[in-house]
Amino acid sequence: MEERFRQRRDTIRRRKDFPADFSLSPGEEEFFRRLGSEEKASLRSLKLAITPHYFSLIGNEEDDPIRLQAIPRVEEFDTLPYEKEDPLEDLRYSPVERLVHRYRDRVLILLTGECLTYCRHCFRRHFSSHGSGAIQGGQLEAVLDYIRGREDIHEVILSGGDPLSLEDERFFGILRRIQEAVPRPLIIRIATRAPVVMPQRMAPPFLDGLADFPRVFLITQFNHPRELSRESGAVLDACADRGIPVYNQAVLLKGVNDSVETLSQLFQRLLEFRVKPYYLFQGDLASGTSHFRVPLDRGMELYRQLRQRISGLAMPTYAVDLPGGGGKVPLVESYLDTLVEGEGGEAQRAYRFTGPDGLNYYYPAE
Ligand SMILES: *Cc1c(COP(=O)(O)O)cnc(C)c1O
Repeated sequence: MEERFRQRRDTIRRRKDFPADFSLSPGEEEFFRRLGSEEKASLRSLKLAITPHYFSLIGNEEDDPIRLQAIPRVEEFDTLPYEKEDPLEDLRYSPVERLVHRYRDRVLILLTGECLTYCRHCFRRHFSSHGSGAIQGGQLEAVLDYIRGREDIHEVILSGGDPLSLEDERFFGILRRIQEAVPRPLIIRIATRAPVVMPQRMAPPFLDGLADFPRVFLITQFNHPRELSRESGAVLDACADRGIPVYNQAVLLKGVNDSVETLSQLFQRLLEFRVKPYYLFQGDLASGTSHFRVPLDRGMELYRQLRQRISGLAMPTYAVDLPGGGGKVPLVESYLDTLVEGEGGEAQRAYRFTGPDGLNYYYPAE
């Protein structure tokens, strides 16, 4: 049997699928106990799936960074007053089912609610939790009609769920249908965690098929340097060799990667595989994810230290997707103080900066 089919078949989906010699921590046990006893809770809760590959990366410690992202804990039942089912208000920006149109020139299609492995920090759990399967033919046609009629739209982001939880035939069929239905050149972004959780899904026959499509970008989510396994590295190299650009969107997660050492290793190693760190996201305010949240000022401090430490090429943009649907904004520390007069040497008016060394520098305003 091909390894990718074995990965699907042997994915852990229930409490009883964990290997007999693997013991759950008390907090994890408590999650499954509550899930079993609260019918309503199980309806709201994000499903469980852990591929054998991702499971094999879990270390021995209870607070292992891979384990935290994959095995649910009782804290998922805690909901803070400001946490929401749909924190980015995808629904408000959804003119057609399965489509999110928040920015003028690009749209996001929710191809499926299914994932190869569910991230316990998922912010779109409202969608993935409600048994949303693959997009249906009629839904896809409605989405494509919408895109075709709006010349401003230049880019389509295939997301979900994980689009690569669809089988090749279905997935490539959708790509071909998009090409056919919208004749102008669209940028296609594929947002998938397959390179992290199931690199076997992206064996060469798939990548060769993907490389046949023009203007395709892969966006993935490595959150910890240990996720860069030998198999994942091979997939990333294979993408670069085929001219498929790969970008990484990491999420800042407490206990997983909230240290300068971990983040700098992650971003440097990604660069070695020719993956450009694109975003580092502040955690979204999704229900049941408070145990992952890093305070924003702590994130700013980490980012400032990171800038002193690693190559500009390895630096992602630290950003927050504003609660309530405001969209993504960069979290930038300002080095620019203010406009000053008679302070900046030859120039009458100049902008004053405070450099990383704490000294003042000037740039003429004229
Ligand atoms: C994140 C997102 C995008 C892409 O934003 P970029 O800043 O271009 O990466 C587009 N549409 C929606 C709905 C999004 O959530």
